[in-house]
Amino acid sequence: MTNPLETFGFDSTHCFIGGQWQAPINGETLELTNPSTGEPLCAIARGTADDIDAAVAAAQTALQTGWGRATALQRGRLLSRLGQLVLDNVDELAMLEALDVGKPLKQARADAIALARYCEFYAGAADKVHGETLPYLEGYTAYTMREPHGVTGHIVPWNYPMQIIGRSVGAALTMGNACVLKPAEEACLTALAFAELASQAGLPTGALNVVPGLGDEAGSALSSHVGVNHISFTGSVATGGRVQSAAAKWVIPVTLELGGKSAQVVFDDADMEAALPFLVNAGIQNAGQTCSASSRLLIQRGAYDALLHRLAERYSTLQVGSAIQDLDLGPLISARQKEIVSGYIQRGNDLQKVAEGVMHEEAGNGHFVVPTLFADVPPDHVLAQEEIFGPVQVVIPFDDEDDALSIANGTPYGLVASVWTNDGARQFRMAKSLRAGQVFINNYGAGGGVELPFGGVGKSGHGREKGFEALYGFSALKTVAVSHG
Ligand code: NAD
Repeated sequence: MTNPLETFGFDSTHCFIGGQWQAPINGETLELTNPSTGEPLCAIARGTADDIDAAVAAAQTALQTGWGRATALQRGRLLSRLGQLVLDNVDELAMLEALDVGKPLKQARADAIALARYCEFYAGAADKVHGETLPYLEGYTAYTMREPHGVTGHIVPWNYPMQIIGRSVGAALTMGNACVLKPAEEACLTALAFAELASQAGLPTGALNVVPGLGDEAGSALSSHVGVNHISFTGSVATGGRVQSAAAKWVIPVTLELGGKSAQVVFDDADMEAALPFLVNAGIQNAGQTCSASSRLLIQRGAYDALLHRLAERYSTLQVGSAIQDLDLGPLISARQKEIVSGYIQRGNDLQKVAEGVMHEEAGNGHFVVPTLFADVPPDHVLAQEEIFGPVQVVIPFDDEDDALSIANGTPYGLVASVWTNDGARQFRMAKSLRAGQVFINNYGAGGGVELPFGGVGKSGHGREKGFEALYGFSALKTVAVSHG
């Protein structure tokens, strides 16, 4: 059997710069760990500021040459070819992601398909981004047009590398930007595979460059680089603040996709059978390491006991095991993440722990944590306020709409929310009043589809990715006024 790490033919200790695979300038490497076993997986490049300089220079050259001259139609066709290559390699990409991130194979496969969908969506959108003609003074014609920012920097976390690369790099390329991607030091193999596939698709030299490395080396070099014209950052609130400060030095626009403490709000009149799988799955997907995880379940008192019972039943069947065992949950990304999440579970000792999942007997030495459900949690409890980034959900009772809104909106975050009710007027009232970048009624899309603009308010960040909104974010609007008498 082929070694999954060798499927795509790149050397994992190399960066991809200017269309070439090359060792980082200092020649140093970092070790990736397989989260399912705790064992070393492979070495990756430890890129630094020197490699970021080279990548930014390659991107600038691309803008002056082939890539800068590509028409919208040509960019769309390239993305279309890239999407097809991703689809042709879904199983191989899923295997890499499963080994690297620890997510169960079926989830990794869904991420690979989502990456292809981003390419497909943006391929179709590339030649459909229009300007407007504007009524102006007598004797003038005024219009707007959208132009690429130039070099865009993409700093990506470890939890959904393929999806996040698809939504940010995919949209940036569509608008004609040249990208420098800094994947996470914990998981970067599918970023490298994506670069290889982009090269096979015929993406011009320098249009996409990938420099793996540490956050405070390669990441901070990218976010503070004078040659970068836009930064897209996905990650923690603390790092997002640092990236924004660094970019402020050169007054570079920044999109921040940060954390969340998203709530699902279930009213007494909801269809409980329909809600149940969403309530659990949106909390435990990717072992809860999802920015849009629904970590808070707000249930109206009339339905509370019955639904809690059903939730507990479902929880006690959830199985945890290695990515390859492909159960409900895989391991957490690292020993450190396991320690943080276990610490939160400890801090719930004063709460009612109603259920937990099952550790598969062959789970081994990976970074495993069983999913844990707490009930009757006071809305101001640390477990109901802080992003845990692990498979922990809290259940909170509420009385009425006002109470639900005050609890749902009562954290510093505002990423995603959902409402389960069959009362149509209430659906609209709640959608209007919930403080979140996305609201789902009688469903919950963790992160939503590729078509749906996504992003947060408050500490969940600012700017929007996905859908056409991303294309506006990854371009600058120019207004032209022609005086022709
Ligand atoms: P993190 O902020 O530690 O790291 C994210 C990325 O930033 C990594 O590539 C890292 O190397 C880089 N980085 C670290 N320090 C840096 C610095 N000083 N300058 C520039 N780059 C730096 O986040 P994490 O722990 O890897 O990811 C988890 C967080 O990401 C959670 O809070 C989660 O909610 C958030 N997240 C948000 C979304 C979203 O779309 N809103 C999606 C996924 C994850």
